Amino acid sequence: MMYNMYMTNTIGKETSKSIRYYHRHKDRLNAEARAERAAKRKARGLPPKGSPTSSISAHGYVIIKHPVTGKHGCREHRVVMEEHLGRPLRRNEVVHHINDIKTDNRIENLVVMSLREHSIFHNKDAPRGENHPRAKLTGEQAREIKHSKKNAAFLAKKYGVSTACIKKIQRGESWKHID
Ligand SMILES: [Zn+2]
Repeated sequence: MMYNMYMTNTIGKETSKSIRYYHRHKDRLNAEARAERAAKRKARGLPPKGSPTSSISAHGYVIIKHPVTGKHGCREHRVVMEEHLGRPLRRNEVVHHINDIKTDNRIENLVVMSLREHSIFHNKDAPRGENHPRAKLTGEQAREIKHSKKNAAFLAKKYGVSTACIKKIQRGESWKHID
């Protein structure tokens, strides 16, 4: 005889009991299952389901999941340039935003520079010698600034330097040999 789901008498007592239990408690059970899946995603370091596919980093860059490697937290302008070049960027290659708008990641707004070229480009009017902002900080302080989550204005006040100096350290344009 073909199985007929409406022939309830063919379903065991325990099965029909658990179906009734499910229907009575389905909202709670589904919520529990959802919470469990969310906890698993969190444990694996994945963003919550339904979260936006891109975000803006503390430094103002667009952050996305890498379309090829699937790695989270990638800077979109670097990914766009890698796709354009057809190869991964090297560690010393910087992708500069021509119009200075960090969220404008159209390929025509991006240019690759070496770390050194990029640093010279942004520092061309900066004071040199003993007036150079670097002279006011120790390597240890520069390292603290680089890893600090505080904003530039706060750090500038704390270390007695300009906010531009703080931002250059955070962008890796000065003190780039520290890590
Ligand atoms: Zn730049």
